[in-house]
Amino acid sequence: MKYAEVAVNVAGGHRHTFSYSIPETLRVEVGYGVRVPFGPRVLQGIVVEVTDKPSFPETRDIEQLISLSPIISPKRIKLALWISDYYISPLWSAIALFLPPGFERNTVIKPKSLRYLVLVPDDERVKGASNRKPVSAKQRAILDLLSESGGRLPVPQILGQLHLERGVIKVLLAKGLVIEEKVEVSRDPLARRELSLELPFTFTDNQSLAWHPIEAAINGHVFPGDGNLFLLHGVTGSGKTEIYLRALAETIKCGKKGICLVPEISLTTQTISRFFARFPGRVAVFHSKLSRGEQYDEWRRIKDGDFDIVIGPRSAIFSPQPDLGLIIVDEEHEWAYKQSDKTPRYHARDAAVQLARLTGSTLIMGSATPDVETYYKAVNGEYRLIELKERITPLGSTPLPQVSIVNMRDEFKEGNRSIFSRLLKAQVKLALEQREQIILFINRRGQSTFVECMNCGFVPSCKRCSGSLTYHSIEKRLICHHCRRTYPVLRICPNCKKEEIKYFGIGTEKVEAECRELFPHARVLRIDSDTMAKARDYEKAMNSFRKREIDILVGTQILAKGLDFPGVSLVGIVNADTALNLPDFRSGERTFQLLCQVEGRAGRGITAGKAVIQTYNPGYYAVRYAALHDYAGFYESELKYRREYSYPPFTRMGRLVYVHSNEEKCRAEAGRLAVSIQLIIDQQGLEGFKLIGPAPAFISRLRGKYQVQIIILGGNIQGILAKVDFPLGWILDVDPIGMI
Ligand code: ADP
Ligand code: ZN
Repeated sequence: MKYAEVAVNVAGGHRHTFSYSIPETLRVEVGYGVRVPFGPRVLQGIVVEVTDKPSFPETRDIEQLISLSPIISPKRIKLALWISDYYISPLWSAIALFLPPGFERNTVIKPKSLRYLVLVPDDERVKGASNRKPVSAKQRAILDLLSESGGRLPVPQILGQLHLERGVIKVLLAKGLVIEEKVEVSRDPLARRELSLELPFTFTDNQSLAWHPIEAAINGHVFPGDGNLFLLHGVTGSGKTEIYLRALAETIKCGKKGICLVPEISLTTQTISRFFARFPGRVAVFHSKLSRGEQYDEWRRIKDGDFDIVIGPRSAIFSPQPDLGLIIVDEEHEWAYKQSDKTPRYHARDAAVQLARLTGSTLIMGSATPDVETYYKAVNGEYRLIELKERITPLGSTPLPQVSIVNMRDEFKEGNRSIFSRLLKAQVKLALEQREQIILFINRRGQSTFVECMNCGFVPSCKRCSGSLTYHSIEKRLICHHCRRTYPVLRICPNCKKEEIKYFGIGTEKVEAECRELFPHARVLRIDSDTMAKARDYEKAMNSFRKREIDILVGTQILAKGLDFPGVSLVGIVNADTALNLPDFRSGERTFQLLCQVEGRAGRGITAGKAVIQTYNPGYYAVRYAALHDYAGFYESELKYRREYSYPPFTRMGRLVYVHSNEEKCRAEAGRLAVSIQLIIDQQGLEGFKLIGPAPAFISRLRGKYQVQIIILGGNIQGILAKVDFPLGWILDVDPIGMI
């Protein structure tokens, strides 16, 4: 008797499998979809293991197979198990990441099919059939149309063209004059953009040096340890993407396929079109903006091996790409790779590392500003570090932009109340005169127009969240950035009834307005999530900027991502400080990354670029190193700080948040849990663990619910958390991107 360990689609957050016996009549393997009895119900499941001995003594039979081949490959089943263990998440939620769209709702979408009507040639007809039975005028029309069109047409086309009902066809079928054929078609949503084929460049010397070990790995050379995992650290514009493209070509040459992760589809269209241009017709984009049917088609075609390359955001790591030989994680430091809003709270880069290990694939993680933890692993030999230190531009290599830091306190002291320092104003003016383009970057977080009563200090806040409201001039509403609820604008203070409400702070709108005032002849475009609701709008804006129909682009974070505009000679960072004020151990790293990325938008053409950083903290290490493009310097300082406070990479971190509408209950439950975790630590005599909290989360109230958090720091935190019983209402986040 054989048994199956099955991950069952059941609520309740189980992290273990259930055992079932396999009836003699069924052939079951790892990865198969099955239906199993569960209490009085029958539920879906995926087979995780086939064994000779069940893990639970009393088993019931698997009732039915859903698939006759693995839905999830055995190696990916292993990855799902790793995700469930590492992120302490329900097994089914980890399995579900890999399933075809629609599977869970029991509505596996049928491949879309089209019915064709095919004329049966005279000599194949059942003898005498057609001759004996008279044919009506309508039936005749169909037969004529078919024979004029080569004997075969889609049913909808026939009915549409002749204005007929389906009944007529039924009669023809019954008479044996035609047969019906079902042909599966693919809903091809991206219509595989028409792009001219682009040829690879000849590598520069630096690129060649970086390329050799990667080439060897792809061709089967196994470096010691985990040496087939590469961290490609290269400044912006140093030719990393070109290396990804070559690596993919090499992988295809070896008969294998690749997956390439990008932080966000809508912000990386420029990168994606380079993949399309280099590998026309062989790239699938895997993303959630498609309809369910389209997603299913894409999933199935990928599984069938129709594409050499799958490109997509974090979920693309779970695509069923067969014969995997290469995984690329572009901009590996990006926080978008972490799923923070629902379970499992996985990091796609870390899942990629596991998948590369499981499949023996080569992995390239690329970044201009690697995550400190990734870099630490590379320096310590866990990954192979490859550096590209020079920029490539159309005229060979040009230096990175020259960056000036402006102390905004001095500006204020000397009477300049504008959001533009004198230096930035002068530089913008100069660039405009020289017909060069300018990007002005505003770090939005918490810095949009802030509202306060000048008389009593009243600050309007959201009814359901703990945050204050910000004013948006387009909507003319106050908006909560946590839940997006909007409120009418206040003129009179609801607290003191005085008409003293003031609006201040820097927002994109304000920068845009001041730009128009200072530089009335410049063509200014503001781009942020408020103006660019759709990816299409964003793409349109980027195109007109590329065509130089715009002089100054004003925007938020979305401007920091991989854009390559040769016309930009100046980047102004209007407010560098906002990320610094967040109570989080990664705020320095965040600031450094953001400043480097934004600076990197300047000087990608012939002219050397310039950048101006406006700040109230000119001495802050993250700002200073960013101005010098000094990653190594930043890394040293950052690591010293992390070591001193025992933050990652020197410990692992888990964030536990309890959410409840009752504040008292919230506090009590968090207190109870902290005590029970401490008990486990003490009883087992474990060392090097630290609990912070329970304390209200940074956003202490969200959508009407209170949030209390506990941070756990230490070595094997999974070992402890796996022993804790978490009642409903707890959120577990292992390796959270932040403490807030
Ligand atoms: P990164 O990904 O590091 O930002 P890219 O691969 O986008 O760098 O390269 C920067 C620019 O240099 C791009 O315009 C790219 O087409 C060009 N480029 C890259 N490699 C070469 C090369 N070997 N010869 C000429 N141009 C190159
Ligand atoms: Zn709110």
